[in-house]
Amino acid sequence: MKAAVLGATGLVGQRFIQLLNDHEWFQISTLTGSERSIGTEYREAVNWRMETRLKEEIAALTVQPTKPKDIDADVVFSALPAEQALSVEEEFAKEGFAVVSNASSHRMDTDVPLMNPEANFPHLSLIDEQRRKRKWDGAIVTNPNCTTAVLTLSLKPIATHFGLKSVIISSMQAASGAGYPGVASLDIIDNVIPFINGEEEKVQRETQKILGDPGRSGEFNVSASCHRVSVIDGHTEAVFVQTEKPASPEEIAHCMKEFTAEPQKLKLPTAPKNPVVVRSEQDRPQPRFDRSEGNGMSVVVGRVRTDPVLSGVKYVALGHNTIRGAAGCAILIAESMKAQGYL
Ligand code: NAP
Repeated sequence: MKAAVLGATGLVGQRFIQLLNDHEWFQISTLTGSERSIGTEYREAVNWRMETRLKEEIAALTVQPTKPKDIDADVVFSALPAEQALSVEEEFAKEGFAVVSNASSHRMDTDVPLMNPEANFPHLSLIDEQRRKRKWDGAIVTNPNCTTAVLTLSLKPIATHFGLKSVIISSMQAASGAGYPGVASLDIIDNVIPFINGEEEKVQRETQKILGDPGRSGEFNVSASCHRVSVIDGHTEAVFVQTEKPASPEEIAHCMKEFTAEPQKLKLPTAPKNPVVVRSEQDRPQPRFDRSEGNGMSVVVGRVRTDPVLSGVKYVALGHNTIRGAAGCAILIAESMKAQGYL
């Protein structure tokens, strides 16, 4: 199938290109950018920041305008800034394109699936309602904010086995989460920035939507405090959970280790063998050592222990913000859509 990447020169766009390299099902057909890049070869438009080499056939593609008539694709991956994504993604869906988006613009629309496939695969069925309501043949499906993607994957097995009452999360988010060039080096080196605009609200409402039923958000409390730290890739999260049924740290660690879902059963190409990897060492997870677990698609959890205040558990979770938290998650969504006949 042919795949287009909208906003292909940004950090998430580059990660799409890296992950779609030699993908079993999807092949890049079109790359788009802003006025700055349109008409130039991708190699000139991009400041390639990935660890692997850019393939010659991709480097030689001409960057196209972000307009449906300029796109030849069966699936469209959007890595646009939220302001552009709002109307552009609707234009694409109206023209019959299936759009899988990283932008926040449509995440909370009631007829738009907000997907982290292992956590809420059945939410894909909202596409049927969306097509009926909006009278279009295309679709908009979104992935969560990067912090939420890591959090909800770790919470899903707990929600299934013990139920959630309250979740408190304190994040330590990588610099790449702010895009390129992102936070100025003089602001982030030797520093922690205790504010990320809009992030805490996104984590709170998106977590409830993902872990609820399709069309109805979960009725548990979420409180987030988000911070930018001097790490390139990999968001670390200190998570405190009050469960509905009593659960020991051993039971929580066990259900996380055993957790698999539809993407694993369907053997989707981007699905990691273990969505949640539990480490027993006292000093793990760490971004430098653990962000590439499961090719960046697994969340690594450590330090699962009793929380004396909430009568529950607390743990540390870590995930790759531009893979599980962005491009990798979107590709897994597209694979899920194909497996369910939506592409
Ligand atoms: P970024 O590095 O700033 O890249 C933005 C991209 O959008 C560039 O390719 C840029 O193209 C393009 N663009 C800007 N204005 C445009 C316009 N008017 N028309 C068409 N293209 C335009 O941002 P990013 O980090 O890749 O993030 C992309 C999206 O994913 C955002 O919505 C972000 O919130 C979301 N997201 C990011 C992360 C993360 O960890 N970074 C995680 C989850 C979600 P030019 O270079 O040609 O200007």
